[in-house]
Amino acid sequence: MIHIKNLHKKFGDLHVLKGINEEVQQGEVVVVIGPSGSGKSTFLRCLNLLEQPTEGEIFFNGDNITDSHNDINKQREKMGMVFQQFNLFPHKTVLENITLAPIQVKGMTGTEAEEVAMGLLKRIGLVEKAKAYPKQLSGGQQQRIAIARALAMSPQVMLFDEPTSSLDPEMVGEVLDVMKELAAEGMTMVVVTHEMGFARQVGSRVLFMDEGLIVEQNTPQAIFNQPQHPRTKDFLGKIL
Ligand code: ADP
Ligand code: MG
Repeated sequence: MIHIKNLHKKFGDLHVLKGINEEVQQGEVVVVIGPSGSGKSTFLRCLNLLEQPTEGEIFFNGDNITDSHNDINKQREKMGMVFQQFNLFPHKTVLENITLAPIQVKGMTGTEAEEVAMGLLKRIGLVEKAKAYPKQLSGGQQQRIAIARALAMSPQVMLFDEPTSSLDPEMVGEVLDVMKELAAEGMTMVVVTHEMGFARQVGSRVLFMDEGLIVEQNTPQAIFNQPQHPRTKDFLGKIL
């Protein structure tokens, strides 16, 4: 589904991504781990062109999305993204947060969009919060709404950038549960996370990134039990 060829990203003189080659198959849950500053967020942001790659190509279902003739907005619609900070619109209700893009970008009617939104709220167990404002919700609830908002666009792949890192510990589980359900339904996902339990349980593959490169990748089982690269061993030694 996603084919990344020789991806480089520089910010001025800072060479952040140094030649990433990777493929993501439909239905895979690819977990990305690695030290802070290794380029994990930049990698995800390049996938949906929130960052413009400096060099290299990204193909999505065979289309070269890094080609300047490509409609970036059309491509982005196919990829949902969930950030560490939930980024909900503070002055809009939960329902309005979820229906905004489907109405404005997809041209759905208000009624259609609300139907979709209520279905999603039901799925994540937050129907009763439809008229609430983000600040009236817990962090875990806000993040579940952010996931629902992304899903409302019917994306083909979901990108998660440390979705539980800013949550209080007791709220991590409810967000991971929504993500696990998505995975079980066959959603293609690329997930940057420090939740090694999630990686073990749900990940199809784990990529270890360091200094702008994918240094090692394998099944969760193999990477956690028999890491091969010294830097992977060192990193896992510090966090496990
Ligand atoms: P990670 O998510 O693994 O912690 P990031 O991709 O956020 O790493 O950052 C990798 C490096 O790129 C860091 O040194 C960071 O400071 C730098 N960086 C990220 N975004 C920008 C930007 N917009 N402008 C300049 N430097 C950036
Ligand atoms: Mg990051």
